[in-house]
Amino acid sequence: MVDDCIFCKIRDGKIPSEKIYSNDYCFVIRDIAPRTPTHVLIIPNEHVTALSKLDKQHHEMLCALFESAEKIAKQEGLKNGHRLVFNQGDDAGQQVEHLHLHLLGGRRLSGMA
Ligand code: AMP
Repeated sequence: MVDDCIFCKIRDGKIPSEKIYSNDYCFVIRDIAPRTPTHVLIIPNEHVTALSKLDKQHHEMLCALFESAEKIAKQEGLKNGHRLVFNQGDDAGQQVEHLHLHLLGGRRLSGMA
């Protein structure tokens, strides 16, 4: 566990949070400050800080993130579409340096930036 990482603490149950889904590679929680009616975070169990740190050994984990996102989108009834976002670095507004995929949906989303 990385000591000051909020997502590592959630993964390890040190900060209470409802995991709405989990598998061998990742877990899913609802964002504490949702921007859309459905806003969940798909978070790898492994503390990887950024997409640029991934290599071939992460192939299965990365697939699991996307598979989990699509599973949850279906579970949440997002029949009309949804958006998946990785914020990377300051300019993108990344707050937590533990890789995570945002799943946003439940309303019409505006432009990309
Ligand atoms: P990012 O800006 O891409 O790093 O996204 C981090 C996200 O984590 C933000 O949308 C926060 O609202 C969310 N967040 C921070 N702390 C928690 C928490 N304890 N439980 C759920 N979501 C959180």
